[in-house]
Amino acid sequence: MNNISVLYSEEELALSVKKLGAEITEEYKGKKLLVVCVLKGAFVFTADLVRSIDNDMQIAFITAKSYVGTSSTGNVSISGDHDFMGLDLREWDVLLVEDILDTGRTLCELKKKFASMGAPSVKIAVMLDKPSRRVADITPDFKCYEIEDRFVVGCGLDYDERYRNLPFIGIISE
Ligand code: 5GP
Ligand code: MG
Ligand code: MG
Repeated sequence: MNNISVLYSEEELALSVKKLGAEITEEYKGKKLLVVCVLKGAFVFTADLVRSIDNDMQIAFITAKSYVGTSSTGNVSISGDHDFMGLDLREWDVLLVEDILDTGRTLCELKKKFASMGAPSVKIAVMLDKPSRRVADITPDFKCYEIEDRFVVGCGLDYDERYRNLPFIGIISE
């Protein structure tokens, strides 16, 4: 097992998620909220966040994978529940929940997809924001922490599919 140092502990993250949940609760008062969890990475954050949001909501899941080829253009493939439980997206304010906003390609594609289905608003909540690596023109509406250009694991974030279960956000040091 690699040596992993703690960047944000389980306790501090829990406090930050609670605060974010309260903000989101205010934002969506009286609205029809559809939370969309972007798999796989966001499964832990989504589970924590939705339990901190005190609004009526529905929850959907979508899988996104970003492939970056030899050229500098990224390619994002989206799969999963495409009919969103048969909901008419024109009636639902969508909150995309992601583990980390990095180049922004994934969330940019997803935002376009939901906007094209007629959602009155499409916003973004992330656990972490890494603005220094941004390629797409996108910023999170709700975030727990902004971080430097470091590769992080834990709370859903993987390194070759490992470490998603760590209860804290960590940095691998060889
Ligand atoms: P992007 O914003 O570049 O389209 O892609 C974001 C995705 O890249 C995230 O959902 C995540 O899966 C992965 N990613 C970006 N930065 C990190 C990181 O520091 N650690 C881990 N484990 N995954 C990352
Ligand atoms: Mg992800
Ligand atoms: Mg990954």
